Amino acid sequence: MIREVNADNYEEVVLKSRRPVIVDFYSTDCPPCNQLEPIYERLAETYGEYMDFIKIYRQGNREFAKSLGVTGSPTVLFYRDGKEVRERLNGYLTKPEVRKAIEQVIGFSIMDREPERVECDVLVLGGGPAGLTAALYASRAKLDTVVVDEGVTGGQAANTYYIENYPGTSGSIEGKTLMKNMREQAESFGAVIDDLKEIIEIKLTDTEKYVRTEDKIYFPKAVVLAMGAQPRKLPAENEDVFRGKGIHYCAICDGSMYEGKHVAVIGGGNSAIQETLYLSNIADKITIIHEFDNLQASKVLQDKVFNNPKVNFIWESHVTKAEGNEMLKRLFYKNLKTGEVSSIDVDGAFVYIGLSPKTDILNGQVEINQYGYVKTDEDLMTSVKGVFAAGDIRDKKVRQVATAVGDGATVGVNVERYLSGI
Ligand SMILES: Cc1cc2nc3c(=O)[nH]c(=O)nc-3n(C[C@H](O)[C@H](O)[C@H](O)COP(=O)(O)OP(=O)(O)OC[C@H]3O[C@@H](n4cnc5c(N)ncnc54)[C@H](O)[C@@H]3O)c2cc1C
Repeated sequence: MIREVNADNYEEVVLKSRRPVIVDFYSTDCPPCNQLEPIYERLAETYGEYMDFIKIYRQGNREFAKSLGVTGSPTVLFYRDGKEVRERLNGYLTKPEVRKAIEQVIGFSIMDREPERVECDVLVLGGGPAGLTAALYASRAKLDTVVVDEGVTGGQAANTYYIENYPGTSGSIEGKTLMKNMREQAESFGAVIDDLKEIIEIKLTDTEKYVRTEDKIYFPKAVVLAMGAQPRKLPAENEDVFRGKGIHYCAICDGSMYEGKHVAVIGGGNSAIQETLYLSNIADKITIIHEFDNLQASKVLQDKVFNNPKVNFIWESHVTKAEGNEMLKRLFYKNLKTGEVSSIDVDGAFVYIGLSPKTDILNGQVEINQYGYVKTDEDLMTSVKGVFAAGDIRDKKVRQVATAVGDGATVGVNVERYLSGI
C-alpha cells in the first residue's frame, strides 16, 4: 500500500518509521512522474511487506521539499532509522533501477527467491499490437496463453497520439485507446497479462523452452517473440547528458513541456512528420532537421507539414552535438554537402531517426539478420521450432500497427496448428 503524506506528518510517518522507507516526491504534468507511477505501484505490491512506500506532492509542499534539497520531480529518497541512505533517484526511472535501489536498502533481492513454476501453451513476449493480437487468437483457440511485457502493455502504438491509418476506426483513434481495446479483447478470451516484469533468463531450443522473470519461471510449449523495436538514439555528443532533459523520443509523452517554445524534430519519415504535426499544437516554432533534401513521409503528411506555418526546415544535415546547462539549449549540426558546422538555439529536440529491434535478451538463440531483426519462415516461425516472431521485431519491410496485427493473427493461427501437430 502507498501512503500519501505532507510536510506536517513527514517526520511522524517517514522519520519515525521502524521499517525502511522509500519516498517519491512527485508532481502533476510531469511525464517522468507518470512513467514512475505504475512502476512504484507494482514495486509497492512486491516489497510493501518489507518497507513503507510513501508519496508526497512536491508542488503542494514546495518549501518543505526545498528544505530537503528536492527541486525536481520525481525525486526518490530512501530512509532507514530516520536517516537518509544511499543516493537519491531522479528523472526518468526504469523498474530495474528502482528495484535495485530498494533491494540495496532492504538488503536482499527478490531474484534470490525460488520462482513460481508456470506451465502454459503459449508464452507471448511483448504486449504491443503484434503480441496482443497473437494472444487474442491463441486464447480464443482455447490455448492457455500468457503475455509478459517489461513495461505496461500497448507498445509504441500506445505512445502515438492519433492513428489515422488503422482500418475500422472511423478515420482516427487515439493510440492508447486502440491499445486498451486490444488488451481487453485478448483478456476477454482468457489471455493472462503479466506486465511490468523483467525477463532475467531465456532458453529457446527445439526441445527445451523456458523464460524466467523476476518471480516466475514459465515453461511454454510455444513462444511468440513480439518485443517490437525501440527508437534509435541520436548519435550526437552529449545525447546521454540531455536525454529526458531536452532530448526526447516520444512527443505524446513529453511534448506538453514545450508549450509556446521552439523545438527541433530530427528525422523526415512518417513518425517524424506525424509527431511534428502533434507538436505544432503545443510549440510555437518547430525546426525539422533532416539528412536528405526531401521528406520520406507519405504525401498526405508532407502536404500537411509544408502548409503548417510553424514549421521550417534544415536540410541535408546531421545533428552532431547537444549543449546546455541543466536543460538542452542548443544543437550543433553539420551540413553533409559543405561540411559546415552551424548551431541552432532550441528548448527541446524530438528524435525520429529509425528503430532498432529489441532482440538483446535473445542472446543469439534464434537467427537474426544483419540489422538484428528476427528471421522467420512463411509461417512466421523462427529458426527454432515452436518459436514464432511477430511485428516490428521481425525481418520485414513495412512496420505499422496493421502489419503488426496481421503478423499477430498469422502467428496466433500457426501456433495452434503447430501445437496440434498439423
Ligand atoms: C512515433 C511513432 C508513430 C507511429 N505512428 C504510427 C501510425 O500512425 N500508424 C501505424 O500503423 N503505425 C505507427 N507507428 C508504428 C507502430 O507503432 C508499430 O509498427 C507497432 O507498434 C509495432 O507493434 P509491435 O507489437 O511489433 O511492437 P511494439 O509496439 O514496439 O510493442 C512491443 C512491446 O514489447 C515490450 N517489450 C520490449 N522488450 C521486451 C522484453 N525484453 N521483454 C518483455 N517485453 C518487452 C514493450 O514494452 C512493448 O509493449 C508509429 C511508431 C512510432 C514510434
